[in-house]
Amino acid sequence: MEKIQNYIGGSLISPLSKKYIDNFEPAKGSVYSLIPDSDAQDIELAVKASKKAFPVWSVMPKQERSAILLKLADLILKNADQLAFEESRDNGKPLKLASQVDIPRAEANIRFFATAILHFESESHSMENTAINYTLREPIGIVATISPWNLPLYLFTWKIAPALAAGNCVIAKPSEITPYTAYALSKLCKEAGLPDGVLNIVHGLGAKVGEAISLHPDIKVISFTGGTQTGKRIASIAAPMFKKLSLELGGKNPNIIFDDCDFDDMLKTTMRSSFSNQGQICLCGSRILIQKGIYEDFKKAFVERTKELIIGNPLDDKSNIGAIVSEPHMNKILSYIELAKEEGGKILAGGHRVYIDGENKNGWFIEPTIIEGLANSCRTNQEEIFGPVVTLQSFETEEDALAIANGTEYGLAATVWTSNLKKAHRLAQKLHSGIVWVNCWLVRDLRTPFGGVKNSGVGREGGFEALRFFTEAKNVCIYL
Ligand code: NAD
Repeated sequence: MEKIQNYIGGSLISPLSKKYIDNFEPAKGSVYSLIPDSDAQDIELAVKASKKAFPVWSVMPKQERSAILLKLADLILKNADQLAFEESRDNGKPLKLASQVDIPRAEANIRFFATAILHFESESHSMENTAINYTLREPIGIVATISPWNLPLYLFTWKIAPALAAGNCVIAKPSEITPYTAYALSKLCKEAGLPDGVLNIVHGLGAKVGEAISLHPDIKVISFTGGTQTGKRIASIAAPMFKKLSLELGGKNPNIIFDDCDFDDMLKTTMRSSFSNQGQICLCGSRILIQKGIYEDFKKAFVERTKELIIGNPLDDKSNIGAIVSEPHMNKILSYIELAKEEGGKILAGGHRVYIDGENKNGWFIEPTIIEGLANSCRTNQEEIFGPVVTLQSFETEEDALAIANGTEYGLAATVWTSNLKKAHRLAQKLHSGIVWVNCWLVRDLRTPFGGVKNSGVGREGGFEALRFFTEAKNVCIYL
């Protein structure tokens, strides 16, 4: 069986313990490769390799760093079909989604930050006749990135690209649930000519490798994307060590639909914002709030469309819904559907595990599920399910919608559907959310600040925000 390797100091190597853990193919429910079960010793090795590489990488002219990263982006493009296949096999997502979204975005992330660094500028503050200040933004040193399984290469590259472009050496930990495309990328890094030790990819369990990262005194920065509980754990270790942290966490995003919206447009996009990637996108609108006047029309059309979705082999072009990423995650989603019933929810569509004939008979599939009749305060509407499960709630006024939308501990993204421009602006200002989409969803400009408020996170990624995060500001004051 294929053994995934760590990428440390420019070499593909086994974990020092020589131990491996199983890597599953969700659509088949079976093991297809092995993942290094790395631990603190491997992180120590990666820190040593980073320390050796930093003096060269950090002073390399940014044009040269940029050229290497652009070569890496070219290689992702060249290998896009293979990477998309590997992503789909590892994660269970439909191949067409990996081909159209995940891999192109991974390439775009690298290309974007490879060129953004060339335009990155700093501030100067003049004190008239007294002094002039200018701010240097220098690479920090060894930084770590920890990423989740839902958009594996997409989020992995979203973090490493600005860190590398800014001149840092990176220790990157992909999710142990979807390690494969990060492994594939490590081979491309060699081909692109990335100097040894500049990027180190250490695979393994969060409780071992992740904790070793949080605890290591020489890793000064951690950029994390994942669950809110994990974010809390990382912060509890890293904050007293004064590490710089960016925490991109969970969400329970409202999708607010007013009766003056463009119904067809809204319905088409709401299908995507509810069930893309089996609902396993932190930005999915899992609470759908509908104004009373169109509640019944929406419900009828949405349920009809949802029942038409094809659940099946992710490699099959006809499949709209692929497999859930892991068996424990599937069971967690199913347990939330049971909870919703106990809380008095009515299942309008879906609600069950799906068994598919043939080679996918042991795969982990769940029907896209719609639930109504639950108060916003119940657990189903408060806790992140992170699967193909949405709830419907009706509202009467703008104020009601806002109160429901803001009535959770999360604040990552919100969507508003209305043709009233003033109303859209008013809501956008009042929503407790890092991102607000009006009459669209998941339209992304990589220059914009990305992140959440409340329990959805701390800090912003994207554009110059990310380059600022991965650099240290030093003010120089010159007396005149
Ligand atoms: P997770 O928190 O279980 O794992 C994320 C990463 O953290 C993995 O690499 C994991 O190995 C590592 N990890 C686990 N325990 C750790 C520890 N104690 N110390 C250090 N690292 C540790 O999350 P997940 O299940 O992989 O991903 C799903 C979650 O990610 C959802 O909550 C989702 O909303 C969130 N997410 C957020 C965003 C965002 O941008 N805000 C984007 C995607 C996913």
